[in-house]
Amino acid sequence: MSYNSRRQETSFLSLDTSTRDDIISGMPERFIRIYKKFYLDEVKTHLMTYGALSGSCANCKSLDLKIDMLNCPECKTEFKYIAFQNIRDHMPKMLKISHERPQIIFVDYEDFKRIEGEEKAKGILG
Ligand SMILES: [Zn+2]
Repeated sequence: MSYNSRRQETSFLSLDTSTRDDIISGMPERFIRIYKKFYLDEVKTHLMTYGALSGSCANCKSLDLKIDMLNCPECKTEFKYIAFQNIRDHMPKMLKISHERPQIIFVDYEDFKRIEGEEKAKGILG
């Protein structure tokens, strides 16, 4: 009885996976940039910016972070957003990350820096 119900669960899971794979292979997903309203503070608190070789925490400025870190080792903030300084160099990384962490949101680095600069100029931050 219990063996039977476990079997059903397993077959359901594998069916679910193959359905998803079919959708992905039939029509490849591509990155399309979108515009969405965010509060700068919310993004900044949970943002990793990523340069050529390593990441940095926008919340506490901690350096030398690895791209697959879910939380900052210093301030423990959860990374919900990633901004690549040079997006074209990091497309394979983005594909891998979005597959492993579908909830992650990629933020445009230039947008973030520009808005952060504007807020600083207004004296709202720092
Ligand atoms: Zn941090």
